[in-house]
Amino acid sequence: MRPPLLNPLFASVTTLSGVGPKQDRLFRYLLGRDDTPRLVDLLLHLPATVIDRRARPKIRDAVAGTVVTLEVTVDRHRAPRSSRAPFQVFASDDTGDVILTYFRSAPGYVEKLLPVGARRFVSGTLQMYDGIPQIVHPDRVVDEAAFAQLSGIDPVYPLTEGLALGSLRRAMAQALQKLPELPEWISPEVIRRCQFPPLREALTRVHQPVELTDVLPDGPFWARLAFDELLAGQLALALVRARLRRPAGDRHAGDGHLRNKIIDALPYALTASQQQAAAAIADDLRQPVRMLRLLQGDVGSGKTVVALLAAAAVTEVGKQAALMAPTEILARQHIKTIAPLAERAGLRVAILTGREKGKERRDLLARLAAGEIDLVVGTHALIQDDVVFKALALAVVDEQHRFGVRERLALTSKGEAVDVLVLSATPIPRTLVLTYFGDMDVSELREKPAGRQPIDTRTVPAGRLNDVMEAVGRALSSGKLVYWICPLVEQSEAEATFHLTNATERFESLRERFGAKVGLVHGQMKGTEKDRVMAQFASHEIGLLVATTVVEVGVDVPAATVMVIENAERFGLAQLHQLRGRIGRGSDASTCLLLYHEPLSEMSKARLKVIRETTDGFRIAEEDLKLRGEGDVLGVRQSGLPGYRVARSEVHGQLITQARDEALRIIKDNPKLEGERGDALRCLLYLFERDEAVPLIGAG
Ligand code: ADP
Ligand code: MG
Repeated sequence: MRPPLLNPLFASVTTLSGVGPKQDRLFRYLLGRDDTPRLVDLLLHLPATVIDRRARPKIRDAVAGTVVTLEVTVDRHRAPRSSRAPFQVFASDDTGDVILTYFRSAPGYVEKLLPVGARRFVSGTLQMYDGIPQIVHPDRVVDEAAFAQLSGIDPVYPLTEGLALGSLRRAMAQALQKLPELPEWISPEVIRRCQFPPLREALTRVHQPVELTDVLPDGPFWARLAFDELLAGQLALALVRARLRRPAGDRHAGDGHLRNKIIDALPYALTASQQQAAAAIADDLRQPVRMLRLLQGDVGSGKTVVALLAAAAVTEVGKQAALMAPTEILARQHIKTIAPLAERAGLRVAILTGREKGKERRDLLARLAAGEIDLVVGTHALIQDDVVFKALALAVVDEQHRFGVRERLALTSKGEAVDVLVLSATPIPRTLVLTYFGDMDVSELREKPAGRQPIDTRTVPAGRLNDVMEAVGRALSSGKLVYWICPLVEQSEAEATFHLTNATERFESLRERFGAKVGLVHGQMKGTEKDRVMAQFASHEIGLLVATTVVEVGVDVPAATVMVIENAERFGLAQLHQLRGRIGRGSDASTCLLLYHEPLSEMSKARLKVIRETTDGFRIAEEDLKLRGEGDVLGVRQSGLPGYRVARSEVHGQLITQARDEALRIIKDNPKLEGERGDALRCLLYLFERDEAVPLIGAG
């Protein structure tokens, strides 16, 4: 149960004065909640910037275009003569006059705010009209008493259409008033080392800044809040990790007989790093603690077979495995590679995506529940409620960054102490691994399977499109398979101005030139349709495949050796690398042509240079990180970590590690969260809604 101490913070925002049903709707949208937000949600909505109102010139000295606070006496009113004319207030100090202008104000509003003869502090952006200073809609109008309460620095919040800054600020001020006295949950050593202010001070100073720097994410106030949030996350992860031990004697790997059969059936030898990864996984599966392992390896490095071996290990002890892929194409690709190998070892495999429906789906679910399927490969269709396993022991999640933490948890909750193997073709920065998984073991497939040829990558200005067409023509007549990648299917006007090429249009023009050997695959096509085209390509029925980025992830046609990417300057580095990974998978040399439009931005230039210079995914990820920051490496927006409201990967990377260390120390010293500190930490877990971990405390 939530500590009663926190109740005031979990009251609905609608309990605040001035927050009605309309604001409720706006706040839900702004704060990203399905139900009415609580005060805590409001308080964790932090300012984007501040307005400095501390400049207090005399009217004569006020600079046009700047924000000023003037101390004035109201001289007279001029009411509007038509509905479109403004209400004007003439005011002055001992150096000059200023006009305060209001459009469409409610009747009586201005008269009340600025009565004739009153002294007021008026703040806003000063403008000059016909040589007369004016402020249109002053941001603040207060009397002397109220003025004494203001710091002169106003927070500015991210807003949503229809929500006024003023009403958000008023709600925020009331919420701050309701903040209860909370115990300190951070240890004294960390407080001292990081010089964190107390929570109350942190919240107050970001919402009511005294200095311009008070709202900066890397400042002490924001950092304290970020640390709290990260600590709650790390503590929850650590609790899950520490408590989820297997029942005694229960192990998820058998004697290796199925794995050996698979290895014997392989048409190739495993690379040394594939062997190491498989061994590490088998070892994890035998441990009394859950496996949480990340298998990182470049596109084409052979992660699938390692995942299959892991599935075989759990099958050896009569348990089940699931492999979840982000797209249907990829799921089908996996089953195609896996099925023949699995069959040789007697593993029963099946596929479950959105496309399996009706009786087929019902039969499949029944077999899954009866334990008659050993490995199920699928998309997020796997996490639907009615998908039940007899004994799920291993969840393999491919291309992790396409899935949220929620999906991963949804899959692992379908079994007891499920082991997790995450496959990623993009090396994930350490800080982000920590944020989402806590401590996670990492295996890397650094070497490419033997016999791979390097890819010759070239950049070509769009003006030379014809030369590229001719080169493609030559490749086609010598029997090569060619991908032609276009960024989008539909062409909107805005995009047209950026020269984005319409895949359908390109398909038509290529078809005109090269005839029936040209195919098209894009995201809006039906799954079966996509498969059919991909199969035609794999069997050389189609030689030139025009595609949008649906081929980006995992698609495996080893015979394809040429790729043209249009508007290459518009793609991110990771995406270019993923796309290019579709070629260079066989034993023939491959060529990648990056068509670009000029002028190139510095960023695009840098990206194209990196992609030309190397095919090493680890290096590309490092460069990407340097160029764009961590958020984008995971395809996550810069501004925040998903599931986190305050902490930001690019600013608080250091804090993530510190929060992890603190969480591990807590689990070691006080695993049942006892005593005063324990109570405080429970508060923290509830405050940041990580309380799903609370029932696990002391359960071991
Ligand atoms: P990814 O890591 O991108 O998922 P895949 O598992 O799809 O890579 O493997 C890419 C291709 O390499 C597949 O066709 C697979 O059969 C092949 N492959 C995997 N391991 C080896 C190996 N050790 N030697 C040769 N080919 C391999
Ligand atoms: Mg793959």
